[in-house]
Amino acid sequence: LLRPRTFPQNGSFLPGKNALAQLKETGSAFEVEHECLGKCQGLFAPQFYLAPDDPCIQCLECYGMFSPQTFVMHSHRSPDKRTCHWGFESAKWHCYLHINQKYLGTSEERELKHLLEEMKEKFSEK
Ligand SMILES: [Zn+2]
Ligand SMILES: [Zn+2]
Repeated sequence: LLRPRTFPQNGSFLPGKNALAQLKETGSAFEVEHECLGKCQGLFAPQFYLAPDDPCIQCLECYGMFSPQTFVMHSHRSPDKRTCHWGFESAKWHCYLHINQKYLGTSEERELKHLLEEMKEKFSEK
């Protein structure tokens, strides 16, 4: 089984599953998902989102690290034929990225939605 290399350069991440565990241990990471051009779930680590292109979301399937904009283009499933994505633009990733459905209806939902909104506004031009 070949795995893509995960975040090799700066050494702050351990490879593969360990990186995921490491991110979860930091406490502030939370799971996100998108349904663009297929569906994908990942772990968003706000503390690594220091520039617009910083890899701060780790795919839960391949453990690759992505910036928010590249994450919404990343998927392991072929697009659902019923879903139309007219005008899909990855630059509008903030429209496509949501908290993981598993949080909906839980006590964390409000807080995480708020946190994600803050991340979306972090580098947006006003
Ligand atoms: Zn979409
Ligand atoms: Zn992946």
